[in-house]
Parts: sequence; structure tokens; C-alpha cells
Amino acid sequence: MRVKMLDLTREYKRYRREYIDAINNIFDNGNFILGEDVSLLEKNVAEYIGVKYGVGVANGTDALLLSLRAAGIKEDDEVITTPFTFFATVETILQLKAVPVFVDINCDDFTIDVSQIEKKITKKTKAILPVHIFGHPADMWEIEKIAKKYGLIVIEDCAQAIGSQVDEKKCGSFGIAGTFSFFPTKNIGCAGDGGLVVTDSEDVYKKIKSLRVHGSTEKYIHEEIGYNSRLDTLQASLLLLKMKRIEEINSRRREIAKTYNLKLTEKIKKPFEKKGCYHIYHQYSILVEKRENLKGYLKENGIDTTVYYPLPLHKQKAVLSLIKKEYSLPVAEDISNRILSLPIYPELEDHEVEYVIEKINRFYDRL
Ligand SMILES: *Cc1c(COP(=O)(O)O)cnc(C)c1O
Repeated sequence: MRVKMLDLTREYKRYRREYIDAINNIFDNGNFILGEDVSLLEKNVAEYIGVKYGVGVANGTDALLLSLRAAGIKEDDEVITTPFTFFATVETILQLKAVPVFVDINCDDFTIDVSQIEKKITKKTKAILPVHIFGHPADMWEIEKIAKKYGLIVIEDCAQAIGSQVDEKKCGSFGIAGTFSFFPTKNIGCAGDGGLVVTDSEDVYKKIKSLRVHGSTEKYIHEEIGYNSRLDTLQASLLLLKMKRIEEINSRRREIAKTYNLKLTEKIKKPFEKKGCYHIYHQYSILVEKRENLKGYLKENGIDTTVYYPLPLHKQKAVLSLIKKEYSLPVAEDISNRILSLPIYPELEDHEVEYVIEKINRFYDRL
């Protein structure tokens, strides 16, 4: 048997007719840039998250970049964040010449360790940028409390967490902005690149709408230097169809995670859902000893696995060359050496999940 990390063709085969019709519809009216479906999607996602505004942008990286800029982050400002995330989180801070300040992560849910945030706050600190990594929410109540106490902005990187919740409140609705990615592998993915920012702030909303079209609110009149960062109408039309199925998509991922949790051997450390949290399992990541051996054994048996992430960001050359500061973040470093993500996506079939479980358990039985 062959089990891939993700097979996007399965979903496409199932819904092909709807997708083709949606695409035809856009070609019929020729409204490719900022067409009606973009504003419909913006409203749809904002409403789903429970905030006032949504702004479609070109990708999840730009969603972060434009949010940081709209929130006023500039040169030398310090932004507290996690070293255990996709590169874009920190790349965008550095693109603005601001300074990422790394705080270590929790060993159970892999999100930022909030107990270590306060001691990293200085006069230059402007923002906290938590990441709901793998779909598990960061401790947003505590982050909110700290931000209030020190007058800091919060921007949430929700690229992996569309639908994640803390006590019934959706990720993306806590901070001044929540950023989403519709990269094809994300829980809600389009047929290319796409992103979106949600916010309750009218100022941030207006600013991002201007930044995404070259810093302009009136055609050919430019108030500031911006970007060309729009979400295509074609992508928005596909995303509207996917948003209708979001509960089904996230529930199926949770169902697969539940089976893994129940049946995988106790010899590995399984992912964790904190009390009050709704985890959408963008990834199902286990902690293992002898990772390379297990990975190789599964590969021989046709099962793909991936290491997210092999090198924490405070150890990346691109970051080190700019921050000029040595960090020791033992939890992030240890997790990077032991973590392994297993196949999980809505179209993964039960018998495939059982096969993965059987092979992993057999590997540990032999030890
Ligand atoms: C995917 C991702 C991004 C970037 O999104 P793109 O759409 O690929 O630009 C940012 N942060 C995290 C945590 C991500 O997983």
C-alpha cells in the first residue's frame, strides 16, 4: 500500500463539477481581479471567525507582512514570537527591519510558552505574534492579558488554524489581526496561492485594503508605497465552495487524529489538545526516539512522513545573519530533533489510517 502525506487529487475528483462550474462562471464575466467573489469570501471568512472585516491578499506571507505594516511595526521594533513555525512568520518581521525576539515553546502543544514572554519584554517591544502551530491554539487568554498589561499589539498567525478555537472563540479573533493562508496544503486550500487577513479594526482594514493595491485608495493616486497583493477572483470562487464544507473538513481531520490517539502505541508521544481548545489537526505530529529509523521503516512500507520543522528559526542562517544574537531555546531544539508528522487529510481513508497505525506499532514491537 502507498500512503501519501496528502493527495489533493482525491478532493478535486470528488468536487470537480462544482469547481469547473465556478471557474467557468468567472471566465464568463471576466472579472479576474477583485471580483465579487473576493468580497463575498472576505465577508464569509470574517463572519465565520466572528470579526467585522476580511481582506483577501495574495498569500499567507503577505497576510502577515501587510498586517504587521498596518499595525505600525517598523524598523527596530521588537516582535515577540516563536522559533517553531514556518519561516514566513519571522521572515516578514525581518522584511520590515523589525527584530524578532524568540520565546521557547511548550513541549506538549508546541505553541509559544507564555510563562516566558514577560521577561523578554523591553522598551522596544511592540507586538506579540503567536502561531497556532499545526492547528493547536496558542494560549490566547494569557497572551491577551500580557499584551494589555504592557500595551502591546497581538497579531495571530492562523495559517494552520482556520477553525481552531479557544473556549468557543475562533483563532484570528483575539488579536488586532489574524492572518490566514490558502496554500493548497492548508486545511482550506485553493488552487495556487491565496491569503486573507481578518480584523475588527477599521483602521487596519482600510490600511490593508490600500497596501494590497500599491498604497492607493483612489485609482492612480498613491498615499504610500504598497504592494501588488490581491487574492484572485478565481481562487476566491473556489474558496467559497470550500468554506461551505469547513466543519466537515476539520471534523474529519479530528476523527483521524482520534483514531491515531486511540490506537497508536504508548511508546510514542502523541499530540495533545489543551482543555478548552479545539485543535484542527493541520498536522498530526508525534514525538519519537530513533526518528530516522522509524521514518525509513515507514518509507519501506509505502508510508510518507514529514519533519515539520527540522531546524528552529533562531538557528537558521538567514535569521542569524540579521539578529546577531545567540539563542538557546532547549524545548524547540529538542522537539525539532524528535518530531514527525503523519499523513492526515480529510480524504485519507480509514483503512489507510489503520495501515499507518499497524506499521508504527509493529516498528515499536520489534524494538
Ligand atoms: C503556510 C504558512 C505561512 C505562509 O503562508 P503562504 O500562503 O505559504 O505564504 C505562514 N505561517 C505559517 C505558520 C504557515 O504554515
